[in-house]
Amino acid sequence: MAVNLPIYMDYSATTPVDPRVLEEMMPYFSEKYGNAASRSHAYGWTAEAAVEAAREKISAFLGGSSGKEVVFTSGATEADNLALKGVADYYASKGNHIITTTIEHKAILDTAKRLRKQGFEITYIPVDRQGLVDPDEIRKAITDKTILVSVMLANNEVGTIQPLEQIGAITREKGVLLHTDAVQGLGKIPFDVTRTHADLVSISAHKMYGPKGIGALWVRRSKPRVRLVAQMDGGGHEFGMRSGTLNVPGIVGFAKAVEICEQEMAQESERTKTLRDKLRHGIQDHLEEVNLNGSIEHRLPGNLNLSFAFVEGEAMMMAIKDVAVSSGSACTSASLEPSYVLKAMGVGDELAHSSIRFGIGRFTTEEEVDYVAKLVVEKVRKLREMSPLYEMYKEGIDLKSVQWAAH
Ligand SMILES: *Cc1c(COP(=O)(O)O)cnc(C)c1O
Repeated sequence: MAVNLPIYMDYSATTPVDPRVLEEMMPYFSEKYGNAASRSHAYGWTAEAAVEAAREKISAFLGGSSGKEVVFTSGATEADNLALKGVADYYASKGNHIITTTIEHKAILDTAKRLRKQGFEITYIPVDRQGLVDPDEIRKAITDKTILVSVMLANNEVGTIQPLEQIGAITREKGVLLHTDAVQGLGKIPFDVTRTHADLVSISAHKMYGPKGIGALWVRRSKPRVRLVAQMDGGGHEFGMRSGTLNVPGIVGFAKAVEICEQEMAQESERTKTLRDKLRHGIQDHLEEVNLNGSIEHRLPGNLNLSFAFVEGEAMMMAIKDVAVSSGSACTSASLEPSYVLKAMGVGDELAHSSIRFGIGRFTTEEEVDYVAKLVVEKVRKLREMSPLYEMYKEGIDLKSVQWAAH
């Protein structure tokens, strides 16, 4: 069977909207367009009912006890900002110390950086070579000034799943709030706020086959009741935690996306994992010096992150431009920086630059996986043929011992 190009293999960046989600959303653009905050007429009531049903569905999916625990936001970036800044502002008199990790999403890291400028102290827990956090390191970092620990459920680059249950046991014992950015894991692996003791959870619809521009911060309402200072003023929507007219079609789509994940997660994760492993073997069994980044055991089913030694990342991306993937380099203003996540795991700059993240998801087919594996093997072979370093490696020269001329 022929495949359509370009092939989408970047499901960790975003996912297409599931047709069932789109269908559910449509009436809320046209007939049911009321403002959920309009209390005086049926248009408003209809919108409000849809929003309340969505809250219940989403909170229940997380293992929460009430729809009131769901604060809708524009996405997970905003939810991460609200969690960290909202907690920091509210609990500042209790303490000024926040703990997070070196491999969080920029929405956490940049927010933490801002809080540091405002006088908060931030501790960054490192990860090991596998991209995993040691819960003991978190225990050791907690002081009587610590107000919040923020650790992601699963990483967006390497797909590693953090030991949140163990971390949550520690934060609960110490009486410190736990926030988790659960965006990448939700709908792919089981997650539950009770088992993990998470007090705040950031989620986003567009990473789970819902629309872009809608997300939520789940905020525990009892044992303990988490308090936040709103970061967006005006109108007092969302229990005073986030003002702004609600994106009703987005919220309806988000809830439908959650419902589908709830029903299909088990089979879907099996399927994507099988395809992921097929892609991995289709590449690694035919090429030497290809390294898997991140734990294979504690890993999201659809994530594959590989480093191709002796291949230049840019050239590789060009060579497989018919496949939509992400590279281990982040384009910053002027230069090409190697991924901070791979760096934090101890991957060298060269290998980080030659890394590619493949994201497999709901609509990936076996034909696509076969096509991509074959293409990657062919292109890497070709690029290596042109590499003097690869030639030296083949001749058995220890590249680390070579004295390089100044460059
Ligand atoms: C995509 C992503 C975000 C940002 O979510 P948006 O809804 O796009 O703002 C935050 N954290 C992680 C781990 C993500 O993968």
